[in-house]
Amino acid sequence: MQYPVIIAGAGPGGLVLALALHQRGIPVRMFEAVHELKPLGVGINLLPHSVRVLHDLGLEEGLASLAIQTAELRYVNKFGQLIWAEPRGMAAGYNYPQYSIHRGELQMLLYETAQTRLGADAIQSGCALADWTDEADGIRVHLRDADGAMHEAQGCCLIAADGIHSTARRKLYPDEGPPLYSGRILWRAVSEGAPFLGGRTMIMAGHQHQKFVCYPISHAHAQRGRSLINWIAELNVPDWTPPPQDWRNEVSKERFAAEFATWRFGWLDVPTLIDTTSAIYEYPMVDRDPLPAWTHGHMTLLGDAAHPMYPIGSNGASQAILDAELLAAQLAEQEDIAQALANYEAARRPATAKIVLMNRQNGPEQVMQMAEERAPDGFAHIHDVIAQAELEEIAQRYKQAAGFSLQQVNRG
Ligand SMILES: Cc1cc2nc3c(=O)[nH]c(=O)nc-3n(C[C@H](O)[C@H](O)[C@H](O)COP(=O)(O)OP(=O)(O)OC[C@H]3O[C@@H](n4cnc5c(N)ncnc54)[C@H](O)[C@@H]3O)c2cc1C
Repeated sequence: MQYPVIIAGAGPGGLVLALALHQRGIPVRMFEAVHELKPLGVGINLLPHSVRVLHDLGLEEGLASLAIQTAELRYVNKFGQLIWAEPRGMAAGYNYPQYSIHRGELQMLLYETAQTRLGADAIQSGCALADWTDEADGIRVHLRDADGAMHEAQGCCLIAADGIHSTARRKLYPDEGPPLYSGRILWRAVSEGAPFLGGRTMIMAGHQHQKFVCYPISHAHAQRGRSLINWIAELNVPDWTPPPQDWRNEVSKERFAAEFATWRFGWLDVPTLIDTTSAIYEYPMVDRDPLPAWTHGHMTLLGDAAHPMYPIGSNGASQAILDAELLAAQLAEQEDIAQALANYEAARRPATAKIVLMNRQNGPEQVMQMAEERAPDGFAHIHDVIAQAELEEIAQRYKQAAGFSLQQVNRG
């Protein structure tokens, strides 16, 4: 290739793409809007299909030193009664683990690895994608630095991995407007505490109007016999003014804690977990409608810029990583860049659109809503309320659609 691939956005999606292209000998230049990358965010999950990609990039040790290998997922009702439990990652027979990890630590692992492998000059921070001009043999990218000065970079193509508020997407679809508010608000935090349910279980409690999700995310804490517990309290409050879509929007627990005051399950004490937290971040649950096209000339979208989805089913970061892997493989295999971008979009746009839409119907968590509707006062046994076959079918259908059934992952 005469010119490098230009990537806008050093989130998990953009960074994995940079590493995957570099591994294939394809030159990369990366531009990130923020001046200094900081380990922002709270917990996220990496499902086995995306962990396979990260292992192939040589990140196995780095991930294992930071994250928890999640061994189980449990859905319970608002009284803590078990709806569904399933093993996860290697405990479920996958060849790769499922990781629960701090998003900021994942981003810093990817960023530092990319700096070492690509060279610090390949990644320029404080330089935001502003616009581009498509040309016969590539693309001219217009960038704005922190002082407002404009710069240009020449590339063979531009990959916009610039997140849910993507500048590129806004240029392509100026009438789309802001991300769509679901009526639900998420309060996210991490608390240190005693391990629950063996220290490698992820739980989701409640139903679609009130939910509490938590899981441990730190290998270092586990080594000391403790858990760094990522948690998300969620309320359906369609009448509230939606809060700003800012990952650093810190609020007080008074906004929501009273609603969870009775959620003490014996094996998990939700009010205490909320009380022992120093910083709580409020974020509206938002997504966007699937797009009719991602690729326009020598540019395309990737990750949250292309397909932001509700954080249901633990798929956001994993799907960005799968995008990156497939796009890098196509750019390496195809002589013709237009063909590579077309093949990437043909595979990834329908696959991710399906997940966006399934997540709007609560994805695999729909069993929690079914349990609430059929037995709002609780149940003696879940099979009195939902048959085992129905529970299994819902779990399996989602895994299949999102590409992480056991067969899909282990087949490679
Ligand atoms: C600060 C932050 C905190 C987050 N915290 C969480 C969390 O706690 N839990 C969770 O589930 N998800 C979180 N997310 C979202 C999560 O990272 C994504 O859903 C997922 O990992 C897909 O990643 P991505 O690389 O596509 O997008 P993102 O992770 O959103 O990365 C996009 C990157 O592009 C950069 N960027 C934006 N505009 C431009 C531009 N014009 N030019 C160049 N660069 C640009 C951004 O600064 C960012 O680094 C967070 C995202 C951000 C940006």
